[in-house]
Amino acid sequence: MYKITLIPGDGTGPEITEATKRVLEATGVPFEWDIQNAGEEVYHKEGTPLPDRVIESIRRNKIAIKGPVTTPVGTGFRSVNVTLRQILDLYSCVRPCKTYKGAKTRYDNIDLVIFRENTEDLYAGIEYQKDSDGAKAMIDLVAKLSGRSIRQDSGISIKPISVFCTERIVRAAFEYARKNKRRKVTSVHKANIMKYSDGLFLEVSREVAKNYPDIEFEDKIIDNMCMQLVQKPELYDILVLPNLYGDIISDLAAGLIGGLGLAPGANIGEGYAVFEATHGSAPKYKGLNKVNPLAMILSGVMMLRHLGEMKAAEMLDKAVASIIKEGKDVTYDMKPAPDDPTSATTSGVADAIIAKMAI
Ligand code: NAD
Repeated sequence: MYKITLIPGDGTGPEITEATKRVLEATGVPFEWDIQNAGEEVYHKEGTPLPDRVIESIRRNKIAIKGPVTTPVGTGFRSVNVTLRQILDLYSCVRPCKTYKGAKTRYDNIDLVIFRENTEDLYAGIEYQKDSDGAKAMIDLVAKLSGRSIRQDSGISIKPISVFCTERIVRAAFEYARKNKRRKVTSVHKANIMKYSDGLFLEVSREVAKNYPDIEFEDKIIDNMCMQLVQKPELYDILVLPNLYGDIISDLAAGLIGGLGLAPGANIGEGYAVFEATHGSAPKYKGLNKVNPLAMILSGVMMLRHLGEMKAAEMLDKAVASIIKEGKDVTYDMKPAPDDPTSATTSGVADAIIAKMAI
């Protein structure tokens, strides 16, 4: 029996979580779910969107699967998702993007794995609000140290990139490449402009790459990478990126394989792993039983592999591939037109997968 922390999230999170829980149970692998709510509703009830009980549960169970959690834009509490990754030091965000036959895409040959550094960069959460004492002090300090002036009416976010965190994410990308017989790792950066943060990311990437002569290494500047991925994605294999670029490229890569509804992910550290889709809570569809549960279900496949339940993982992955190929029991985003009346519901997709696995 695997005891797993289950975080339903908010918005459409609870619907896709329920679908995922049902298909995971249908694989026959025994699970005991430790259900832990987090997010906006919890914030109103418990005064924090991420109570200690959630962290304690993951520390206890070591593994969690979570639905997306809404983050207020601009003001309000910090992202539960980012905070969770930082507290548990889940430094590798691993996001495979692979085309399934039958998915509605412009490309039919994508097989990328994104390694996004998950704990630092502009997501470190070190920010100073406009007109705050902190912002004023930072402006004075920068003027004193560099002679450069920052406008007084500025908000400031700090972008730390360390040798330690870069080394471990690049190593994770190479280790994955080796284990999964992949051919190439591309380090993505903007080192021409941010010489001391992205420059360090590149320098450390090159150093780590020397330990893996069996795997090709190259680097690309982020803006060029965006164009390359749209024009010739088949040239790329594993991408390793600092946090912000990794976040953005993850959505771009999801677009290449048919949309966010199909892009799974895992946040992995030394002791803990939290599996979640790349997408957010899509709140406008909340309660409609409409959105695609496959990204979270495929995150469940990643979790099964992490647990060593390879047979169950292959069975579930095959069932997903089969419903995508048939194109009947898929949600609106995977139909030729989004208003297709034959679109399956979120729970309907789970039913179809469960039926496939039973055959
Ligand atoms: P989003 O990923 O929630 O949705 C963007 C659009 O993508 C949706 O409007 C929808 O058209 C499509 N989409 C997303 N998931 C889908 C699915 N499962 N099936 C079909 N279509 C899907 O991004 P957003 O609107 O920018 O963010 C909404 C909220 O989610 C924000 O508060 C954001 O902070 C949060 N968020 C959370 C996570 C997380 O929990 N890890 C990740 C990203 C965003």
